[in-house]
Amino acid sequence: MPRPEVTLTFDNGPEPGVTEQVLAVLKQANVTATFFVLGSKLADPVRRRLARQAHTEGHWIGNHTMTHRRPLGTITEPGVARAEILDTEALIGAMAHPDRLFRPFGRGGDLGPHLLNQEAVETLKTNSMTCVLWNAIPRDWADPDGWAEVALAQCLAHPRTVLVLHDLPTGAMRHLGNFIAAVRQHGGTFRQDFPPECVPIRRGAASAALAPYVSA
Ligand SMILES: [Zn+2]
Repeated sequence: MPRPEVTLTFDNGPEPGVTEQVLAVLKQANVTATFFVLGSKLADPVRRRLARQAHTEGHWIGNHTMTHRRPLGTITEPGVARAEILDTEALIGAMAHPDRLFRPFGRGGDLGPHLLNQEAVETLKTNSMTCVLWNAIPRDWADPDGWAEVALAQCLAHPRTVLVLHDLPTGAMRHLGNFIAAVRQHGGTFRQDFPPECVPIRRGAASAALAPYVSA
């Protein structure tokens, strides 16, 4: 098998006391990643400063909805999904990656038609945005001490992993440095971009693989 390649993503932040720690570990390890932030958190100046710091340090800032309340594919009221996406994009502003990265809320990390509704798809297309999914969820929030071992096994089992972690105050991120070191000890490498199989919409253009992620 070729050397496994791993892309790290951090969802649901920024979070004071945690995001700083994650940024310090990433800098020390010389790894760049993507932070999929919540618009509701960017409204807070302290959290906004953390997003700016991440952006300045070479990480990509992506959109992970405003409220993270309901998966967009479960929403039927018109205007809600559009606002969840575009209000957050407005708060991200100049920190946005040129591809305008968006990650839907998966509710425990499941992939399926609950991720997007038709309005969300139209919003992403019309605004030339990019939908970034994932292929590994080590459930760091549920197992703050055991996730790193799970994640290592997931990364070593695939040539190309997009891993979902969370910069939230669970204690899980204490193990980030050791996890990165373990991946490298096993021959793995880190990269910042996303493989096509995790990107069903790129700069507004949808691939044939979009249907499994959109509610009827
Ligand atoms: Zn999330």
